[in-house]
Amino acid sequence: MLCPQCSNNQKRSEGMQCGSCHYGFLLDPKERPYLSDRRFLHFVGKVSEDGERWFTAHQLHGLLQHHDMGWAAAVRRAGSNRRRVPRPPEETVATVARWVAHGRPIRGLIDRPALGVPAPNWPEPDLYDYGAENVLVVDQPLLVDVLVRNGVHARARTAIIDASGYPSGVTRRVADLIAHRPDLRIFLLHSSADGAAAPLEAYARSVLGASANPVIDLGLSHHVSRELRFLRWAKHTVVPADVLSHKWLTTGVESAIAAGVSLVGLARGGGPSFSDDDFG
Ligand SMILES: [Zn+2]
Repeated sequence: MLCPQCSNNQKRSEGMQCGSCHYGFLLDPKERPYLSDRRFLHFVGKVSEDGERWFTAHQLHGLLQHHDMGWAAAVRRAGSNRRRVPRPPEETVATVARWVAHGRPIRGLIDRPALGVPAPNWPEPDLYDYGAENVLVVDQPLLVDVLVRNGVHARARTAIIDASGYPSGVTRRVADLIAHRPDLRIFLLHSSADGAAAPLEAYARSVLGASANPVIDLGLSHHVSRELRFLRWAKHTVVPADVLSHKWLTTGVESAIAAGVSLVGLARGGGPSFSDDDFG
C-alpha cells in the first residue's frame, strides 16, 4: 500500500498505519471493493477535477468501472480468461460514505440533496422567474443537485426537478409554467432500468399537468452500454444516470436538450465534440 501522504510503500502485514508518517489507512485493498486509499483519492481527484467540480458517488463508480474494464481487457489480451464482473454502484456509495464518516471530507462530493431550501449558493435564482425554455424530470434528487450545481440548468435554460417534487419551490413554478405553455418541451433522464421513463412521463402528465406537452426521453436506454463506449462495463447491469462522465452529464445533456434527441441519438449522430470516453 502506497501512503497517499508520504508515498511510503508499506506492506499490508505491517498494519494500517504508515510506519513513516503515521497516516491512518482506511481502505484495505485486500477486501471489497479492493481499493487502496491512494487509488481512491486518485480517482476522487480525477472525477472532481481536484475538487473544482461537483460529483456524486455514482460518477466515481462509473469512472472506477470504466478504468477496471480497460484493465480487464488488457489482462484478456495477455491471454488470461479472467473477467471482471461489474460491481454494484452501492459498493462505491458505501465506500464514499465510510470515508466521510471517518471525518475525511471530500471536496465536490454531493451526497445529500441540498437544493430544498433557498441557499446563498443557489445558482441563477432568477432562471425560473423569467421563464425556463425546457423542463427536465429526473428519477433521483442527487441527479438534480449534480446537474444544477454544475450549471446545466442555466446553460440549457432548463428547469430541473425530480419525480418526487424536489426541489419543491422549482416544481411549483414548473407547474405554473406548463399551465401557460402547452408547447414547453419536457425531457426525461433516468437509470437504464427497463421502463424507467414511464413513471417520469406519468408524473409530468398527471402531476405537473403536461397533458399535451411534447415529452422527449434522453435515456439512459437499457442498451446504452452498446452505444457509449465508456459504459461498456455496464452490459448486463442496470446503472443510474449519474454514472455518466462529467462531460456527458453536462455538455452531452445540454446538447441533447438543444437538439431534442436522446443521449444515444446524440452519440449516433457523432455526439458532442468530445470523445465519449473522455472523463476530463
Ligand atoms: Zn506515510
